[in-house]
Parts: sequence; C-alpha cells; structure tokens
Amino acid sequence: MSILSSYKDMFGSSFHCKCGVQHAVPLKHVVIKQNAEEGVPSILDSEKLGKRGLMVCDDNTWKFAGKRISEVLSNNGYDIKVCLLNQKPMVIPDESAITQILLEFEPSMDFLIAVGSGTINDLTRFISHRTGKPYIVFATAPSMDGYASTVSPLLINGFKRTYITVHPLAIIADIDMLCSAPDDMILAGFGDILGKVTSLADWQLGVILAEERLCPVAKNMVQSALEEVVSKASQIAQRKSEGIQALMEALILSGVAMMMVGNSRPASGSEHHISHYIEMKYFMEGRQPLLHGTKVGLAVLYTVALYNELASLDPKNIDIQQLVKTKIPYEEWCQKIKEVFGPIAQEVIGLNDRQNWDSVVYERRLHNIKEKWETHLKPLLSSVPRLDTVKEWLQRAGANFTPQALGIEQNLMEEALLYAKEIRPHYTILRLADDLGFLEEKVKKIINLALV
Ligand SMILES: [Zn+2]
Ligand SMILES: [Zn+2]
Repeated sequence: MSILSSYKDMFGSSFHCKCGVQHAVPLKHVVIKQNAEEGVPSILDSEKLGKRGLMVCDDNTWKFAGKRISEVLSNNGYDIKVCLLNQKPMVIPDESAITQILLEFEPSMDFLIAVGSGTINDLTRFISHRTGKPYIVFATAPSMDGYASTVSPLLINGFKRTYITVHPLAIIADIDMLCSAPDDMILAGFGDILGKVTSLADWQLGVILAEERLCPVAKNMVQSALEEVVSKASQIAQRKSEGIQALMEALILSGVAMMMVGNSRPASGSEHHISHYIEMKYFMEGRQPLLHGTKVGLAVLYTVALYNELASLDPKNIDIQQLVKTKIPYEEWCQKIKEVFGPIAQEVIGLNDRQNWDSVVYERRLHNIKEKWETHLKPLLSSVPRLDTVKEWLQRAGANFTPQALGIEQNLMEEALLYAKEIRPHYTILRLADDLGFLEEKVKKIINLALV
C-alpha cells in the first residue's frame, strides 16, 4: 500500500488530534498517475470554480505540460490565459515575478493553475492568497516539499521571508513526467526529504527546551515518509516509478504535515536555515541559485554531524557560570550581524529576541538543558542516525552533495553553519550548540566531515 493512501481519509477533512488540536487538511485532491493531465477538467468541474483561469508556467513547464493541459481544458469549455514567466536563467520568486503574474491576472478569473515545481508554485500560491482566488497545481518534478504548503518563501529586497499564503485545492502529477524530470531535480527532492532527519529532531528540541507543541500524527507522517524514501533510494536512482512515486508522496505528505500543525516545524529545521543562508548569500552576490533540496541535502550532513557530536557530550562539562560570563553581549552580536548580513542585517536583528541575551534568561535556559540532558536530550541526540549512514543513503540515491561538487566555498559553508541560526527564531541544534558555547569549535571540527 502506498504511504499516501494510508492518509487519504485526512484529505479535505478536519479531525480532533491526540495532540489536543483540531487539525484541518483542506487540500482535497492528490492525484499521481499516468496521463494525469486528462483528469484536470474533472477536478475543476467537481469544485465548481467557474470557467476562467490563469495558468502560471515558464518556458520549460509550458512545453513539458502546460500546453497539453491548456488544450485539454479548452476542449472542455475552459477559458485559460497563460502567464509565461521568462526570467533567465531561471525564475526567481521576487518582486518582478509577482508583478508579472498580477499584470496578467484579471478580476473576472475564477482560479489559477500553477504548472511547475518550487518557484512557480510559491508564486502562484502567493497570488492566489492575495487575490482570494483558489488554485491547483500540476507538479512537473519531485523536487521539493512545498506542493502542499500554506506558506510561500519569497525573496523580497534580497531577504528570504516566508509569507502566510493558502493551500492548493488539488495537487496533480503525471508519474511518467515525474520519472523523466531532470536528474538534479529528482535528487533535490531526495535531499529535501533527507532534511527531515534533522528537522524532526530540531522540532523535538523545541518541544523539550522551548515549550513547543509536538503533534505525534504529523511527526509520524513525516518520519514514515522519510523511511519509505530511504528504503527506495536505489529505485529512485534508477527512475523506477515505485521509487519516484514514493518520493513524490513523501514530498506531498511533508507539506500536509506542515499544513496540519500550521507551521514549518515538521519539515524544516537547521538544515533548511543553512540552505536559506546559502541562498541569500548567492542572491546578494548575483550567483546562479542552486536548487533548494540540493542545498538541504548538503546541509543535513553537517546538522547530522552536529547531532552526533553533541550526543557524546557529558553534561557535567556544562559550566553554567562560565558560559553566562563569556556570552557575547547583545551590542557586540548586533555589530557582528551587521558585518555578516550587510543590507539585510536589520531584518535579522529584528527576528531575534533581545531577551535571549539577558543573563538571567540565559542561565535559566542552561539549567534547563543540564537538567533535561540525561532524560530527554541525550536520547533524542542519540536517535539521529550516524553521518556515515546518511552518506550511504545519499550514495544509494546517486547524489553527490559535497560543497566541492556544488561549487560552494569552504568559508561560505563555515559562515552558513555559524550564522544560519540567526535567520529563524526556532530552537535548533545550531542554537543548542551555541548555548553550550561551542558552536564555533564544533563547526571547525565538522566542516570537513561532509567531504569524504
Ligand atoms: Zn524544503
Ligand atoms: Zn496533532
């Protein structure tokens, strides 16, 4: 039985969860099959949205799927206008792409269709939210887990910020098309799923140390999606449909888990923050962006290494008084952030709670860490797989995610490990290492571990 089918009763429904929250999964249709484009009109018919829509695609996805879907829809009485995004070499989710879609959108339109993967989906979802018109997505590659997401990460003024948006009504994908997606996109999807190794662990760190709420249903959903994909790594490498189907389902379920809990915790942690950091730096330097999941697949090697390192720590060596005495003062930290983040420094400073530098608050946090080390933290830290195991998974999938292979300089990688924690307020392994006063020392130690 496919992993998605075990959760299908949840789609389009709401339920009271054992975590104490009423969860809703408003995503109604998930269809992954052969010739899926033929089924688009009947899904739209069932939703009774009206007949006029805006299709958002780029040159590639237009040729790959958009043209055919547009024909199928007009044969079924739909009036579809096409918004062709043509930024070169690739579409960026920024002000200019948003403006282009808004210029093509007409108030009389009833819905939007995104034809593509990450960026096109993020942009369409944002416009859908702002115009109040529903949207569906026709997914062209199993490359990232944002299909079922309700947020859009956009690059505005060069800063990657996540905007609350809206869920799609349907995710539709053609399995043959997914299997023939470019290699780097499939491997990026694998990397994004591998990131769940530490996003799930980071979420639990937040529960133990920052009073966050854990939803066991969402956690198990992502955990089983991860296990399924890892078990099918070789089939993914060989482009076998059962492997690609499992990967696509896992990517969709990761999004559903975020949709359920209403935040990104189940599927995005320190590995994602590192990826966002590299992305921002690339943008600032005008470099051609790397795929999201590729960076996540690289970053997870370091976050796993950090978990492995911290798992062997003896809590007796946590010298609370010494740590409080030597913590970098807030003003000094602000200065450092200005040097590192340049034009976006104020945004980063604003994201971090000044209270974290208060010595009483910091001391309390350290006591909490020390008290919970043996009972809660050590079991969690030790539950994260060893770095060699994760490397072997990547190898089986045929992915070579080293900084050299991706052209990322060692100093950028080091910087990302040191400062990625600043761009999101969530408690993660990077923040734990920092609280314990040895993030820098550990980064020096793990920086070369991903290479071999
Ligand atoms: Zn991701
Ligand atoms: Zn729950």
